[in-house]
Formats: sequence, C-alpha cells, structure tokens
Amino acid sequence: MEKGESSKLSEEDVWAKLIPVDSHYSEIELRLKETVICSEVDNSSGKQDWCKITRSVDLVSAMMQNKSSKEILVDEKVVQDEHAAAIKCGSEISLGPSDEGFVKYRFEMMPTEESRRYIQVSLDIEYAKCCICLSIWHDVVTAAPCLHNFCNGCFSEWLRRSQERRSSVLCPQCRAVVQFVGRNHFLHNIEEDILLADPSLKRSSEDTKLLDSCASIKSPLVLNSRKGRRKRERSPSDAADSLEHLCPQCDTQFGGFRCNESTVHLQCQACGGMMPSRLNIGVQQHCLGCDRAFCAAYWHSLGVSGSNLHPLCIPETFKPIAERTITRIPSLAHEENHYEQNITERCIRQMGRSLQDVVADWILKLEKREIDRTRMPLNHAEMITSRTYTCSECYDKLVSFLLYWFRVTMTGLLLPSGEAQREDCWYGYACRTQHHNQEHAQKRNHVCRPTREYMTDSTSTRRD
Ligand SMILES: [Zn+2]
Ligand SMILES: [Zn+2]
Ligand SMILES: [Zn+2]
Ligand SMILES: [Zn+2]
Ligand SMILES: [Zn+2]
Ligand SMILES: [Zn+2]
Repeated sequence: MEKGESSKLSEEDVWAKLIPVDSHYSEIELRLKETVICSEVDNSSGKQDWCKITRSVDLVSAMMQNKSSKEILVDEKVVQDEHAAAIKCGSEISLGPSDEGFVKYRFEMMPTEESRRYIQVSLDIEYAKCCICLSIWHDVVTAAPCLHNFCNGCFSEWLRRSQERRSSVLCPQCRAVVQFVGRNHFLHNIEEDILLADPSLKRSSEDTKLLDSCASIKSPLVLNSRKGRRKRERSPSDAADSLEHLCPQCDTQFGGFRCNESTVHLQCQACGGMMPSRLNIGVQQHCLGCDRAFCAAYWHSLGVSGSNLHPLCIPETFKPIAERTITRIPSLAHEENHYEQNITERCIRQMGRSLQDVVADWILKLEKREIDRTRMPLNHAEMITSRTYTCSECYDKLVSFLLYWFRVTMTGLLLPSGEAQREDCWYGYACRTQHHNQEHAQKRNHVCRPTREYMTDSTSTRRD
C-alpha cells in the first residue's frame, strides 16, 4: 500500500539539539525521529548508551527514555533506568543522579514551519474584557470606527435600547458614534484561548445562555444616523450617502415601513445591497448555515424588485431548502474529487433517477434525523430542516454532505461495475493525495471514513 504524506519534517532536518552546559563537550544534533545518545568515549565494553530521545507528533515536545542503567536527572526530577520523561525546549538533562559532577545538556528544539506559524503572545487579560459586563468577551464584536470590543449579547442589548430611544448608537466605552459593528473572528480565537489557559475566568452556563439569547449581531451591521448625515456637507463620494442609495426602503415606504435615523442596516452578501435589519417580522434575513445576511427573501416578501438604483437579489439566491432545485453535482462534493463525483453521477443514472430525486430523499432522511450531523459543514447543524432558508453556497455544502451519505450507503452491487472492487484509502475523505494524484484517486475509494489520521494536520483529523 502507498504511504500518505505524513510529517512535514524530513529525516535530514535537525529538529533539536543537546547543548552541553560545559563547553568541553560538543553539541549533539538530533535528526532522526528517535536518537540514542551514547557516551563520547569508547571504554572496554564499547560506547555506552545514555538515553533515547523521541520526537513527539506535536513537534513541540519530546520523550527522553533512560538507557543508562543509572539514574538521570531531567529538570531536577530523577528518571530511573528504562523510565521516560517528557522534555521540552529548555529542559535540562543531567546524565547522572545529581546536578553536580555529571555531563549536563540543555535540550533545544529548532523552530519548525508549524511552530513558526503559531507564536506565543503574552497578553494582559484586562484588554480582553467587555466594559459592559466586566468579564472576558463572549462572542466578541467590534464597533467601528473606534474599534472597541464587547460581548455580542451586551452590545446587542445596548443597541436595542439605543434604537428604542431612536438615538444614534454611541460606543459604551468611549461615546463615539458607532457606524459599524461586526463579529470579530480573530479576537474570538483569543477569547477562547484565554478561557482555555485560565478556566476560572469562564462564566456559568446560565450566564452564557442569557448572553447568547440577547445576541443579535450575526453578520456585520451598518448603523447610521440620517439626522447626522443631513447636517453634514455632502460630497458625491460620501460613503454614507451611497449607503442610502443602496437601500430602497430609505427613500420609499414598503409594507408600512420606512427606514428612520436609528435603522440598522444589513449588507446582503450576494448583491452588496442594503436592507434594514428587522427583528420579529417572520422573514429570514440571515442564512442559518453561515449566519451571513441575504436580501432575497426580505424584498420578495415585500414585493419589491430591483432597479438600476437599487440592486437586489432574485428569490432563487436565498430560499428554503425544500424549494430549491438541483441539476448538477456541486463542485464541492466528495472533497472536490471529480472521479468520485463521476461515480455518484453514474450511480444515480443507473438507478434511473434524477439528482433532484435523490437529494429530496436524503433531505427527508435528514429531517427524520436518520443521518449523523456531526460532520455537517454548516452552522446550527442541529436546527436545519427542509424549511430552513439557506444561501446557495450553504445549499451546495448541504447537498455535498448528503451525497457523501448516499454513496456510503451504496452497497457493492449498486455501484457501477468495476468501482465496487476498489479498496478504501486509509485516509478516506481526508486524503490529500486524491487531489494531486489522478491514479491514486481512481485506484482507491475516498468516500469513506479515515482509518488513519494525518499526524501533523489537525484539520484533517476530524471524525464523523
Ligand atoms: Zn459583556
Ligand atoms: Zn469606543
Ligand atoms: Zn434603509
Ligand atoms: Zn449560507
Ligand atoms: Zn442581495
Ligand atoms: Zn487516498
């Protein structure tokens, strides 16, 4: 069987060094995944083994196993013969039972491509707190132009109250007018890292539930005060001015509503047009699969169609899953492996059915909860039903997910002849070789779970 790509380090690279504390001795370079360190001088019985150092898969630590038949000191802890201890960059290894009078090395690891990508940063957690609730951010959002950060729930409440007062939205921290607010995914990662590093900063689950229930900022919001803008001298390039032109409801009343000075706007991710953010009107303005804003259902519900002045989406771009039609296998299907896509296509044809029929069947199975949703690549996977509004991209992702299950449940006889004999690739759908090696893609089945994992790539080690 062929080997997959594994660790990015080749056997020639020096991955770590043992640097002698006493410069009379020489440095020892470690190249192999496992290296046995011997004494430098031969005595009558040959070189004596000291210890074996093994690189860990995480590439940031290693194991030292005592092979000396005496005690070895690692970071001032005694390691008995044949026992092992974890070592990391900076660990001190003394080749004897005490710190004095024995050869001592400092273990140093070379920066790898991986570790260079993830540098450690120290940070004062006070900078990661929300000034409204005084805790570490939860689902952090950033207000612009002042760039202060808050919990989504805290800021949403603030926004709701400002709107009730019909006043423009001021930053709770610096009182600057907020023109824009959006979730900050980069800071969100930092928020999670902080809580991992210090779990005592975590809030209770009731607290986070309450915050989540208030959180209304899904996709970026454009906040603007018409009053404020009217007062200013306008220039043709005024960004706020062009915003007004992009929202049909700023100028004209539709369905009994016209935007006012405290209206929050959403930008449609498909056409770039603006629409007022309306809560509790029973019309979907966000795709449940990706939380982005789409305008088609909103304008459709009001009977508004686009004009030269106001670009807006046709209903096809954002509608319930059950109302969509599909004629071609999405290019995302089967991890973009064309060979597998072709098999699926032939499979369906051989059954005398259409892609639309097969997808409809599987949507039904999904709705009856007959499919494990763990690997479904959509947000809120548990909430998705056939009546859910999704954008076209999310619909393609959903269909690709369903086609995986369609294929997995195809038994040998139902597959086109010749294809049933293919063995499963060890790396299954996560295989990287299938993308650049045509022969491999044809020889092995890739519509299956991985039975082996890539050691150095955490993104491909998810299981279903
Ligand atoms: Zn807060
Ligand atoms: Zn501010
Ligand atoms: Zn408007
Ligand atoms: Zn979507
Ligand atoms: Zn649109
Ligand atoms: Zn493979």
